[in-house]
Amino acid sequence: MQVTRDTFNDVMVPNYNPAAMVPVRGEGSKVWDQEGREYIDFAGGIAVNVLGHCHPELVKALNEQGNKIWHLSNVFTNEPALRLAKKLTDATFADKVYFANSGAEANEAALKLARRYAIDHFGNDKDQIISFKQGFHGRTFFTVTVGGQPAYSDGFGPKPGAIEHCDYNNLEMLADMMSDRTCAIMMEPLQGEGGIIVPDPAFVKGVRELCDKHNALLIFDEVQSGVGRTGHLYAYMGLGVAPDILTTAKSLGGGFPIGAMLATDKVSASLKPGTHGSTYGGNPLACAVAEKALDIINQPEVLEGVLRKETLYRDILKKINDKYQVFSEVRGKGMLLGCAMNEKYQGRARDFMIAANDNGLMCLVAGMNVVRFAPSLVIPDEDIIEGLARFEKAVASVVASEQDNN
Ligand SMILES: *Cc1c(COP(=O)(O)O)cnc(C)c1O
Repeated sequence: MQVTRDTFNDVMVPNYNPAAMVPVRGEGSKVWDQEGREYIDFAGGIAVNVLGHCHPELVKALNEQGNKIWHLSNVFTNEPALRLAKKLTDATFADKVYFANSGAEANEAALKLARRYAIDHFGNDKDQIISFKQGFHGRTFFTVTVGGQPAYSDGFGPKPGAIEHCDYNNLEMLADMMSDRTCAIMMEPLQGEGGIIVPDPAFVKGVRELCDKHNALLIFDEVQSGVGRTGHLYAYMGLGVAPDILTTAKSLGGGFPIGAMLATDKVSASLKPGTHGSTYGGNPLACAVAEKALDIINQPEVLEGVLRKETLYRDILKKINDKYQVFSEVRGKGMLLGCAMNEKYQGRARDFMIAANDNGLMCLVAGMNVVRFAPSLVIPDEDIIEGLARFEKAVASVVASEQDNN
C-alpha cells in the first residue's frame, strides 16, 4: 500500500500538522525520508531518541527480549522491570518505582500519589497543588490542568480543582501562595516546552524549604530534563535539591514508550494495592530497552560528553549569531538547548524550524520564540558541525526573506 503525507489528512484526526516529508529510516543522528533525502536529527523525536536511531545495543536488547516474553500483566512481575527499578533506585534519591507508558501517565500517578499521601497523613483539606506558568506536564486532563498554559486545558469542560499557578523563579510569590493546605508543588527543574527556562538554583532550594515548612511534597517533572540530558543523570543532581517524587519518560526508553514515577519509601506507601494501575506499565520489552539505555547513559564518559558537545553547539551558534543577529541568547543545559529570538524575530521560531527542515535538519521549537535542540547524547561531533552548517543556511534564508520584505 502506497501512503504519503496526503494520506494523513484522509485518515488521521487533525490534532497534529506534521511536516511535508515522511521519515522512513534512521541511523545514529541521521534520518532519511520517503524520497531518500537525508536529515540530521537535532530533535530526537521530542527529546526522546537519547542514543540516536537504531542504536545497535538497544536493537539487541529489544530483539533478545522479543524472543523471550513480550508482555505480562501486573498480575505478574517481570525480570526487566525489576532490574530497571533496581538500577533507577540505586542511581537516585528514590526507594520505589511505578512504571507507566508516557510522561503524562507518570505525572498522573505522581499527582494522585501526592493527593492520597496528603489525605492519609493530614486529612481531606490538604489538596492545593501549585505548579508554574508555562510549565508542561502532559495532556491528560489532570496533568494538562496542572500545566501552566491554559490554552491547552481550556475548552474541555470542568477542570480538576485546587490547582494554582505561580511565576517560575519567583520564590516570594510562591511563599505567599503556600500554606498548610498545600499538598504538593510540581515543577520542571528546567522548563522544556515553556521555552527552555533554567531555574535559579536559589529558587529551587527555596522551593524545597517551603515544601518542608508546609509538609508539602516536591514533585520534579524530569520527563524532558532527565536521563542524562543536562549532563547529570537527572537535572536535580546538578541543583543539589532532591524531590519527594520524580517523574521520567521521554529519553528513558530511547524511543520505546515508557514512563516511570520514582518516590521515597515513606511517600510511595500511600499507593496501596488497588489504588492505581496500568495495563502496560512495566512492559518487559519497554523495560529491557530502558535498562540498556540507562546502562549506557549512566557512565561518566557519556555524561561528560554531553557537556563537551554543549560547548561545541554554543561556540558555533555564537558564530552564527555574530553574523546574522537573530537570537537574544542561547540557553538551556547539555543536549537541551534553546535559541531565543531577539526583538526583530519575535514569534518566528517556527519559520527557522521549517527553513532548517528544508535544509536537511530536524529541530524543534519551544513556544513561538525559541528554536530548540534536543539531539542524541552521543551525536557525533561531525554531525553537530554539519547540522549547524545546515542551520546556518536556514538562518540565512530567513534573514534574506526578512530583508526582501523590507
Ligand atoms: C513531554 C512532557 C510531558 C508529557 O509526556 P508524554 O509522554 O507526552 O505524555 C510531561 N512533562 C514534561 C516536562 C514533558 O516535557
